[in-house]
Amino acid sequence: MDILFDLIIIGSGPAGMSAAVYASRAELKTLIVESSAPGGKMVKTHLVENYPGEKSITGVDLSMKMHEHSLSFGATYAYGNVIDVKQIVGGFEVVTEHGETFTSKVVIAATGTVERKIGLDQEEELVGKGVSYCAVCDGAFYKEREVVVVGGGNSALDESLYLTQFASKVTIVIRRDVFRGEIGTQEKVYNNPKIEIVKKHVPVEIMTENGVFSGLKVEHVDTKEQKIIPGSCLFPYIGSDPATAYLKNLGVLDDQGYSIANDRMETSVQGLYTVGDMNQKTLRQIVTATADGAIAAQEAIAYLNK
Ligand code: NAP
Repeated sequence: MDILFDLIIIGSGPAGMSAAVYASRAELKTLIVESSAPGGKMVKTHLVENYPGEKSITGVDLSMKMHEHSLSFGATYAYGNVIDVKQIVGGFEVVTEHGETFTSKVVIAATGTVERKIGLDQEEELVGKGVSYCAVCDGAFYKEREVVVVGGGNSALDESLYLTQFASKVTIVIRRDVFRGEIGTQEKVYNNPKIEIVKKHVPVEIMTENGVFSGLKVEHVDTKEQKIIPGSCLFPYIGSDPATAYLKNLGVLDDQGYSIANDRMETSVQGLYTVGDMNQKTLRQIVTATADGAIAAQEAIAYLNK
């Protein structure tokens, strides 16, 4: 089989786009395969305030800037949802959902994570009818209405603050009595008069009226008392899981599906690098993702030059 590319980058979040800049600038024939809009989780983020050089920038703007940059040295871009990566003589075959295949000598996988579902009845069928995993995409539909956010990590806190621009009230439901997100963001949340925090409660049931979300039934973790929080939309922000199913046959994933890569982003498969949020790591940030992408691309260049 002919090998068409030096490098295929799967995913165009910050990690993949950074890898594309480094690799294509070093003149590797590079293809980026992406199944959605460029930017990954970043494009669904309201504001980014911790990426050096950008004091405050919307996730959409930073995604578009990185996207343009990632293609500016000659990398090509293809739409496709990758479902398998196979080892072939001299490299890899990357297979998409619609049966397209691309070949390369080296692969950098950068597919990040997908939002975790709460697991409530009707949760998935009500997406678009009052359940949303993207405040940036859907928040503006809920002007002067009440919304419910579940989760207490950075995503839940950032997106709750974003939602207060539109909603008349944002209720955040957390299962412990402390948040997980950054202290500075917690302070903004506590000081926002539009936000109410319901602590030590877990969601148990989605309430509907005329086929759309109308409230969330929650239960106190100790007393088991239940109550309904009314609202027009539910935004679950309870973390995410690695989007790595397409690598399961290569033996590079841990039991939770995160990829195991060393500090050079090398996996146990020669020529396969993994980067960003999909990796086992302690700090999942845009800045750590872009760093991973740069490291992997440099390693790929060295590997191809051997
Ligand atoms: P996360 O940090 O894992 O937080 C998940 C939250 O959801 C926690 O409050 C958790 O509660 C809660 N939760 C989990 N399962 C639940 C369930 N079944 N029912 C109710 N609540 C549940 O996830 P994240 O906020 O998506 O962030 C992911 C990573 O991206 C983190 O490393 C985060 O720091 C990073 N990130 C950073 C920024 C930033 O720097 N501004 C922005 C967004 C994301 P417990 O705390 O009780 O476990």
